[in-house]
This record gives sequence, C-alpha cells and structure tokens, in this order.
Amino acid sequence: MQKSPFRYSLDNKRYHTLNYHIKSRFGRKIYKAVIECGFTCPNIDGTKGIGGCIFCDGGSGYFTRPDLTVTQQLDSEYNRLSKKYENAEMIAYFQANTNTYGDISHLRKLYTEALAHENVVGLSIGTRADCLFDDVLDLLEELNSRTYLTVELGMQTVHEETLRLINRCCTHSEFVKGYDKLKKRGIRTCLHIINGLPFESHEMMLETALRTAEMYPDAVKIQMLHVIKGTRLEEMYLNSEFSMLSRDEYINIVAHQLEVIPPETVIERITGDGDKSKLIAPMWTADKIAVLGGIDKKLAELDTWQGRLYDISNTGDDL
Ligand code: SF4
Repeated sequence: MQKSPFRYSLDNKRYHTLNYHIKSRFGRKIYKAVIECGFTCPNIDGTKGIGGCIFCDGGSGYFTRPDLTVTQQLDSEYNRLSKKYENAEMIAYFQANTNTYGDISHLRKLYTEALAHENVVGLSIGTRADCLFDDVLDLLEELNSRTYLTVELGMQTVHEETLRLINRCCTHSEFVKGYDKLKKRGIRTCLHIINGLPFESHEMMLETALRTAEMYPDAVKIQMLHVIKGTRLEEMYLNSEFSMLSRDEYINIVAHQLEVIPPETVIERITGDGDKSKLIAPMWTADKIAVLGGIDKKLAELDTWQGRLYDISNTGDDL
C-alpha cells in the first residue's frame, strides 16, 4: 500500500484518527467508558420541545445501566475492559440525552464521582449547545483545569430547514453561540454531524462540513443517519417519505467532507456504532469494517486526504 501523505495517523489513514490523538496526548491507549445518569433533555420534557429529535430514542447505549451509580457503572466497564486489556484507563463518557441539563450541584456530584474513579483519566460530556448556562460553564472550566475534558455537541447539520424538520428546537445560530462560549473558555469540543438527514443533498452535507471547518473544532464525529425502532423517523421511513443514502453515497460524501475539514481536527468517529437490535435502516451501517475500509479506499482512489482543500475552502474559492 502506498504511504499516506497524511501525518496525523499511526496506521496509514488519510484522516486525523482518534488513536493518533490519544497516543500523542497520553502516550498510550485510553478507552471510552459510556455511562448513563438518567438525564432528560429540554427537547423531550417540553421546555424547548416535546418528543425530541425525530431520530432520537432517548438512550445512549445498549449496555449502560442508569440504575447504577457512576462508580458502579465505571467499575463494570473497567471489569469488561480488563478481560482484554491490562490496567485499562478510561475516559468517562456521559452520553445519553443532555448531560449538562440538571441542577448544578447534581452535575458537580456526578462529574466529580467519575473523576474520582482510580482508572478514569478524563471526561467526555455530551450535551446541546443551548444547555451551556453560566454556572455549567464555570463548572466545566474548573473541570478542564483538572482533567482532560471534551464537551460533545450535537450539531447534526447547519441547515435550518432540516433542523426544523428533525424537530431539533435549536437553530444553527443558537448552536454557534453555545459553541463559542466553550471555545472562549478553552474547552475542547467535539461536534457531531449526521449525513443522510431527510431531503439533504450532497451539496448540503458538504456545506455542513465547510461551515464546521470555519468553526475549527478540536474534533468531529460524522455518522450516517440511523433509523431506530420506535422513533418518529421510523414512521417516516416506513411511509417512504424520504430516501436513505446507499453505502457508496455515504462513503463518497464523507471523503469530500474530510477534504475540507482542518487537518488538526480529530475525527473521533466516521461511522455509526449503535444498538443493532434497534436498527431499522440502513442495514449496511451494521458492517462498520466495510464502511471504514470503503472510506480508506475512496480517499486513496481520489488521492486525497483530510484538509487537502481546507485552505481553499477558507479563502472562499470554488472547490
Ligand atoms: S437533543 Fe439529543 S437527547 Fe435531546 S431529543 Fe435531540 S437527540 Fe435526543
């Protein structure tokens, strides 16, 4: 295989891998431990919306146990990891729903408990950009001075018509305001993007990547839209109200999105990794290895890599 021209990878990938970032930051491999703490979301409880985003099934994972304490969940993850890896170290990932949406003393207690776990070396907190209130930001800034912290923000798309359609109840400008608050406080951010949202064209998805690039996030997660059992999206899918991307279309879009994303931005995920028992469509996403391999192959075929067009995109020239 020809050597990749891209430098932020340890395994000849053409994009900035999480593995490269973690090894550079910690000098060793670190594992994410997903925990769930019974949070809700302002888009579910009626504060901003009811029913949530049309693709949301409200939960994070298929192996989390919100009935257990943070420490018990981390112990359980550690025991699972220890079967494969000796002395595994973890980043506690508060993933399900909106993990900054709660009383500040409760948030402090949960985050502090996670950090106190002897095998935890960092925190990752998933939330909405409109749930970053001043007291929460103060707490995040304090945590950031003590540990490796990432705040993961669901952006999904920059297109207002799609945000309305998916019942996001948060405009893109509200998103940017929240994102900027984290940036100002020097907190590491990871933005989530979904490809294949109903009625979005290739150009619209590329525009989402271009505008993400302008924000210069520390990291992004890109994934294909999943239709999950029991969601409003499932109804739309079963009524054939929109069409899904094929695997080849998704791979092609991701390759072009990577070209415009800054090379320094870590690509923390490039394909989905959800609960297969609840997945209705597209079934090709269940074969993660084929998607990852397809993206590698496409980038090589095009002889391109992450950030190849980043400078051009930021000078406003045509791509
Ligand atoms: S913001 Fe997140 S948790 Fe809230 S409804 Fe949307 S996807 Fe679900």
